[in-house]
Amino acid sequence: MQKCENCNAQFSWSKIYKSFWWMYKPVECESCGVRHEITIFGRFTFVILTILPMLIFMYFLTPFNNVFVTIGAGSLILIVGSFFTPFVIQYEKAS
Ligand SMILES: [Zn+2]
Repeated sequence: MQKCENCNAQFSWSKIYKSFWWMYKPVECESCGVRHEITIFGRFTFVILTILPMLIFMYFLTPFNNVFVTIGAGSLILIVGSFFTPFVIQYEKAS
């Protein structure tokens, strides 16, 4: 998981996770205060792990006849996928 590029402190999962849902809000290091921004590659990774599986599921697979069940299951895929994103997404020191 992402560490501070300045002092090497470990960022918490919840802190990174919350950043995604605030439009990729920069993450501030708790020990040295340096701001980190998500990389462009990190944004792609987020979409690939969350929105893409959801869309593939809802548009191409649609195993349920009920549209509400399909949307519900699609949302569940998005949420479950997003749980893994803090482990793989890269941040860099804001300039
Ligand atoms: Zn730091």
